[in-house]
Amino acid sequence: MLFDPRPKASRGELFDREKELKILDDSVGKPLIVVAGIRRVGKSSLLMSFLENWRGVYVDLRDVRTRADLYRKLSEGLSGSLRRLGEGFLSHIRGVRAMGLEVELKWKGTDSVSISGLVEELSAEERTVFVFDEVQGLRPPLSLELRNAVSYVYDNVPNSTVVLSGSEIGLLKDFVGVDNPESPLFGRYYTEVRVERFPRSLSMEFLERGFKEAGSGVSEDVVERGVELFDGIPGWLVYYGMAVVEGRDMDEILESAVSLAEAEMEKLSDREKQVVKAIARGARSWAEVRRAVEESSGAVIPKSALTRAVRRLEKLSVIQGYQFLDPVYERAARR
Ligand code: ADP
Ligand code: MG
Repeated sequence: MLFDPRPKASRGELFDREKELKILDDSVGKPLIVVAGIRRVGKSSLLMSFLENWRGVYVDLRDVRTRADLYRKLSEGLSGSLRRLGEGFLSHIRGVRAMGLEVELKWKGTDSVSISGLVEELSAEERTVFVFDEVQGLRPPLSLELRNAVSYVYDNVPNSTVVLSGSEIGLLKDFVGVDNPESPLFGRYYTEVRVERFPRSLSMEFLERGFKEAGSGVSEDVVERGVELFDGIPGWLVYYGMAVVEGRDMDEILESAVSLAEAEMEKLSDREKQVVKAIARGARSWAEVRRAVEESSGAVIPKSALTRAVRRLEKLSVIQGYQFLDPVYERAARR
């Protein structure tokens, strides 16, 4: 079903993305792939569907704060692969025990699992793809550990391909750190796949197909209105499609989407929120943002503080060139 809030996990269910799948398929065997795209654009769907044709592990790193979280996510990733690839997949991997379809990590008799060791063992006999999704949210020391592992694997494990993916594109690039001489991945070559929103015609087709599948006859207007409000961001199109099928009215659908976006923007600092509000109300340059922020707060904002807030919003993929990347975020910021 197209209108399903979970990421798609098979190529048959995936709408479009042939071009992106081909780049990914052609890059298996290279050491590193970076997949970037804003939230809800379909990165996880693309990656899980990509893995359908390969021996591989998908690890979702969202909300990983502690080592225990990391082990849980690694175990979940391995359990998922076990379901797909069967028990043989893990049969002689030290430190990993399969119990039915669940996986327990027990690394060499100690309770510490090394990511690079795990990757090395899994790739020892067959080419294996490791997808780490939403990596930019990791904090030290786990972020350093993953980066060191990726760099070790890059140099020493020829049978593996590592895919790093994330929604906050600037932070993802910082995480990879190929431009940073201090990063263990400095100067490494990688393949980049940008996951973009669908163009208008494909977005219309996406909604039309979804409504048809759901057995819901809707007018052309409803399809057009959806694309107008949510652009070509498939996660929002699914949200819209499901709500229309459930019979909710337009204002209510938009209202709940905006509330979701508002909640996601809660993590911004007060200064960043002021900047976002200024841009939502039409500021289109640094000077205009500064004027608007100073007017609304009645205080003088240091230049460097403002520049820092703008840069951070760009790194978080909230804005680019003083424009919102997601129309729903823009509405949320306008309130
Ligand atoms: P991301 O990982 O970029 O945040 P997801 O892959 O989780 O995005 O997708 C968000 C929502 O949109 C999910 O409901 C997913 O099923 C749907 N979706 C995204 N891309 C596609 C696609 N190419 N075909 C079908 N559904 C998609
Ligand atoms: Mg995702």
